[in-house]
Formats: sequence, structure tokens, C-alpha cells
Amino acid sequence: MRVPIPITEELSFTFDESRTASPAIPSDPFSSSASTTTHIVPAAHGYSFRVSKGTRFRIIDIHGEQVVDFMAWAHTSPVFTLTEKVSMAYTRFHLSGVTPAVGECLWTNRDRPLLRLTADTVKVHDMTFMSCFPELYEKEGLKGHRSCAGNIAEAMEKWGMRSHLEIADPFNIFQNTPNYSLKGGLGCSRPGDYVEFEALDDAVVAVSSCPYDLGGFNGGKITDVAVVIAKKSK
Ligand SMILES: [Zn+2]
Repeated sequence: MRVPIPITEELSFTFDESRTASPAIPSDPFSSSASTTTHIVPAAHGYSFRVSKGTRFRIIDIHGEQVVDFMAWAHTSPVFTLTEKVSMAYTRFHLSGVTPAVGECLWTNRDRPLLRLTADTVKVHDMTFMSCFPELYEKEGLKGHRSCAGNIAEAMEKWGMRSHLEIADPFNIFQNTPNYSLKGGLGCSRPGDYVEFEALDDAVVAVSSCPYDLGGFNGGKITDVAVVIAKKSK
């Protein structure tokens, strides 16, 4: 049974209660809920957040088989603009394949590594497909259907984004589309699976719980995901 979760509150989130009895491990801020901040991203919606250099954060698939579209922009000047962003083309150029291994980075269109992948419990993601977008659903007769492009634009409005046409190409976390094929099931992540990044510079990050509910994708049911941000140790 799914329990309704407040959609805007910052929640304290414990991954594994059995671990809270043990002393926190200094090198792993995620081992204690006291050292993290959790935001639940409601099913089929988006969320954006700022991280400073050195911050680690996780994107968690709470219920399994839920794709999360992911984008990030550098926030290195006093006035934020949408100009320097994580680019899948630049990232593919630097990787040996189309999925970063732990230790590899997501690169920006200024040819800088902005985020380093520091943990990954799935290792199956996509950096070739675009985000689902309003017109995709309109062509299926589903005008007004939520989309990742719309979700990201909505979440990034406070950062100056005015249209879903301004989004970047996404890193599609937990999306299983090998050989550029949408055939078959998209998801192979299980409840609690996550990817973890370290910000190599100040950044604004946006995510979307993919609302694509056609053809059994996203496990046949769109679900909440979580963003967990570790507090930086002073
Ligand atoms: Zn989507």
C-alpha cells in the first residue's frame, strides 16, 4: 500500500532503521538521516535544487522501475543563467560508453566535469533519448498529459526557465533502453535503488519522475522518487 506523502515538505528519511543504532560513519553521510535532507518528488512531477561544490546527493527509486529524467546547470557566477549545462553529447564524448561508471563524470557544454558519479546500485541508464514532452502526448490524444520536459520547466521556473523548449538533453536514470530501443520494459531498478553524485562545482539540479504511463513503461505505474542531499561536513 502506498502512503500519501506531503509534496512540498522537506522530510527526514531513514533508509534502514537498523543502521541508525550504529555510530555514524564519517565518510558516509548517508548512513544517518540526521546528516541528510530528503525531498519526496511526487509521481509524475519535477523538483529542482541547488547544491554547492563538494555536496553529495542521491536520486532514489522508492518503488522500483521508475525512470527519473535528470539535468543540471552550473551555478558558478553570482547571476544564475541557463547557459552552462550538463550535456549528454559532451558526456558521451568523455565516456568509454553511454553510461558513466562510478568515478566518471557528467560534463557540461563548457567541457567541464560538473557532477561525479560516486555510487550506482543499478548501472543501467540512458543518455540517448530525449525527455517525454507535451507534443508527444498530444499526438496520442492526451493533451495536457504531464511530461518530463514540462516537469523540468516547471521546476526550473524559479531559476528563470520560461518554456519546456529550454530544457537540456536528459540523463535518464534507471531507464533501460539498450541499443537505442524502446522495446520491452524500460525499468530494471528495484525499490531503494539509487545513484549518487558529488557536485564538482556549484550547480542547480532538476529531476522528473517520468509520467510516461503508456505501454507498461515505468513498471505500469508512475511512482514517487526521492532526492536525498547530504549535509556537508564543516
Ligand atoms: Zn518522461
